[in-house]
Amino acid sequence: MLKKSLIYSVCCSAMLSPLFANASHSFAATHEQATVTANTLNLRSNPSTKSSILGKLHKNNKIEIKNEKNGWSQIIYQNKQGWVSSTYIKKEKVKSTGATLAQKTISYAVVIANKLNLRTSSSTNSKVITSLVKNTKVTVLSVKGSWSQVRTPSNQVGWVANTYLTESKSASKPVDSSPQLPATSKPSTSNIGIVNTSGLNVRTLPSTNGKVIASLSKNTTVSTLAVNGNWTQIKMSNNQTGWVASRYLITSPTAQVPFSSSVLKGKTLVIDAGHGGKDPGTSANGMSEKDIALDVTKSLVKRLEASGAKVIMTREGNTYPTLEDRVDIANQHDADIFVSVHVNSGPPSAAGTESYYDSSKNPQSAEGKMLATEIQKQINTLLGTANRGVRDKGFYVIKYTEMPSVLVELGFVTNSEDAKKLSSQRNLFAQAIYNGIIAYYNKQ
Ligand SMILES: [Zn+2]
Repeated sequence: MLKKSLIYSVCCSAMLSPLFANASHSFAATHEQATVTANTLNLRSNPSTKSSILGKLHKNNKIEIKNEKNGWSQIIYQNKQGWVSSTYIKKEKVKSTGATLAQKTISYAVVIANKLNLRTSSSTNSKVITSLVKNTKVTVLSVKGSWSQVRTPSNQVGWVANTYLTESKSASKPVDSSPQLPATSKPSTSNIGIVNTSGLNVRTLPSTNGKVIASLSKNTTVSTLAVNGNWTQIKMSNNQTGWVASRYLITSPTAQVPFSSSVLKGKTLVIDAGHGGKDPGTSANGMSEKDIALDVTKSLVKRLEASGAKVIMTREGNTYPTLEDRVDIANQHDADIFVSVHVNSGPPSAAGTESYYDSSKNPQSAEGKMLATEIQKQINTLLGTANRGVRDKGFYVIKYTEMPSVLVELGFVTNSEDAKKLSSQRNLFAQAIYNGIIAYYNKQ
């Protein structure tokens, strides 16, 4: 926390876009194919305009006809069955071979933003139909550029930005929480794991009998929660938990995203744990900012040093260097970058991460902004915190330091969800900042 003047605007969570891919789920097609010719076409429960609307189809949607009756066709679309007026569909000619019909592709996705607008078309200028909350499972009907047309559990159809969706291969309703099984070991703070294979199944149970609820691509970072035999319980960036075979996870503290960490060799980094000593910073939920900042910083330093960086901490314990002291340390060591770690406070509803750079005096503000952007992205992705943005503000320690400098407010200690993360996932915050620094150097 630095100033009371921070704006506690509620904004939606913007995560680093996960690679969005369609999950294929094919089934044998044995009926006649058709295409929707109307712009929108109601899918109804019965062959009557009086029956209830199950959903809407759109022009050029490919459907499968099961049955026909009184000008109505019973169809299957995206695994959903219902009736449409035959007037607005056009049957496709069956190829002379007659045998093969196109396979359908169904994909499912989960909303990873706290609040995601469902719009009438694939543009932010279009009307908002409704807002979807985090972890809502949707059916992806089509993908157009950076937008996906989706159907919500309440059968509303509209467009959302892909960035706020994560792929889900589960063909059933989302599982809110996996069954709690006794874990053979449960670390008090969660660690991170990096997936070292492509298409790693995440299951509901620590067994191949567990249902597959997701598939992770190589180099995905997850939090590890517990270990049971050869299985590790993980938490994904959408906060869903599940079990994976431990041998497909790299869990060393220096495990990292697909970047080369060799970029840190020979670099001098100054890492500043905010506050300290007589200055506790902000406090709530039984935690003080100075302690959180120091814990995260220590964990971060371990990771940076393991990658060959020379790291200087402005404080290594519960002491209070002045802001001038902190700046002097960075400038006198001619540091390559400076990162200051803080946590925020505000009304209970305010939540999320903010990363600051300064362009009023810092001579390397463009670089500072890049570094802030990478750190912000990584925290939002790994911790699932709301993205409150990368901001330009002349906080003392980032203003008077002479290298690319960032001050990060990890989250709000006054918000219950953020506080949970700040309490139990300090290593993951450290990993996120580490990843951000690596990503920054890999873009140089
Ligand atoms: Zn602070």
